[in-house]
Amino acid sequence: MNAPQKTPIKQHLIDPEICIRCYTCEEMCPIDAITHDDNNVVVDAAKCNYCMDCIAPCPTGSIDNWRMVMEPYSLQDQFSWDELPEQQDLGEADTGALAEAMEDEISSLLARAHEGTGGKPAAPASADKPSINLYSRTRPAVARVQGNYRITDEGTGSDVRHIILSFGEQVFPVLEGQSVGIVPPGTKPDGRPHDIRLYSVASARDGEKRNANNLALTVKREEGGVCSNYLCDLKKGDEVQVTGPFGGTFLMPNDPSANIVMICTGTGSAPFRAFTERRRRAMPGAPGKLILYFGARTPGELPYFGPLKKVPPALMEQHLVYSRVPDSPKEYVQDRMRVNGEALSGLLTSDRTHIYICGLKGMETGVDEALADICRKHGLDWATIKPVMRASGRYHVETY
Ligand SMILES: Cc1cc2nc3c(=O)[nH]c(=O)nc-3n(C[C@H](O)[C@H](O)[C@H](O)COP(=O)(O)OP(=O)(O)OC[C@H]3O[C@@H](n4cnc5c(N)ncnc54)[C@H](O)[C@@H]3O)c2cc1C
Repeated sequence: MNAPQKTPIKQHLIDPEICIRCYTCEEMCPIDAITHDDNNVVVDAAKCNYCMDCIAPCPTGSIDNWRMVMEPYSLQDQFSWDELPEQQDLGEADTGALAEAMEDEISSLLARAHEGTGGKPAAPASADKPSINLYSRTRPAVARVQGNYRITDEGTGSDVRHIILSFGEQVFPVLEGQSVGIVPPGTKPDGRPHDIRLYSVASARDGEKRNANNLALTVKREEGGVCSNYLCDLKKGDEVQVTGPFGGTFLMPNDPSANIVMICTGTGSAPFRAFTERRRRAMPGAPGKLILYFGARTPGELPYFGPLKKVPPALMEQHLVYSRVPDSPKEYVQDRMRVNGEALSGLLTSDRTHIYICGLKGMETGVDEALADICRKHGLDWATIKPVMRASGRYHVETY
């Protein structure tokens, strides 16, 4: 008789490289599953019941690490670690179980948003390690609205808002490029709660206002949309349930010499506002270029048009293009990229160049074709360059 097929388990682990040994998790654990020695704080797989009481209080996010394993790592294994082990290859028989166990509402949303990358997305090598999944639908962070401002012209059909959320005493660490989940109140017609919607963080890691424990979102009101109307109608002081943070690949490189080409439409500008603010605050005089290609129908419909005009050229090179200005030819981001083909082709030969595309689903195709044309014209091969950039975490797509 064959031995019964073993199934993998999801083991809770603490990242020894990030943990600051404050032992808050150990105090929070109601069943004493967390312990420590002189070296590390560790989780006993035989005791942990996944109650998640330890996750939110952890100030660093080091607590939120998981591996699918056939045999759990022992306490002795964990005490000896200087870094977390990689996820083991569990073999073909178990990849289905693994995928099923890891799959959830948010990861499938993110996977769809990143599919335009054309392969498995990777984080830039110099990006900081993000905290993810600190708050969930059952345990959301409760933020308070500090402000809600329209950032497109009144009278245009496009109502886009800059919304600032304050987290008070709650720890909600984000990196530039990450998203948060918003839990809209109420239920669907079938009586089940509304799905969580994702929104990119539009402020730098140290807050919309520096060290104020707040963050900003850029939200477009969608006609008939559940969550965007809920958010766009929020008033100062209202409470909002927030989950996340989410996203571990669409992140900003820390390397100040990285050239960052940011290509967006509409609310796709949100993460790039965060990138720009990070460069301005943390890397003044950075040698790497920051280049923005931003498309809208008209200047009045381009989110942050006014503030963008004030960003100095030394910090960021801007290409704002419009497709519906009366008596002017239509111009899309890919058209302007072709005009700047020579400069872009030069950047594509550098392994310090990162490309980010964010905005409406489908925009990646036009941009991809423009990059292929630019390469062809300048003796390069986009079909060879793109997979190299993608594999090294230098080509990113987030479209929705
Ligand atoms: C990674 C990621 C980041 C994102 N970042 C941002 C961001 O920074 N800013 C931003 O504004 N958005 C962002 N989004 C999109 C956001 O998550 C929402 O999808 C968006 O706000 C619409 O949500 P909603 O609840 O308002 O609309 P929904 O209620 O989900 O409806 C979407 C559209 O479908 C229509 N619709 C719904 N039901 C029906 C039906 N039965 N028949 C016909 N039509 C229907 C609605 O009228 C609406 O136009 C992001 C998405 C992802 C995946």
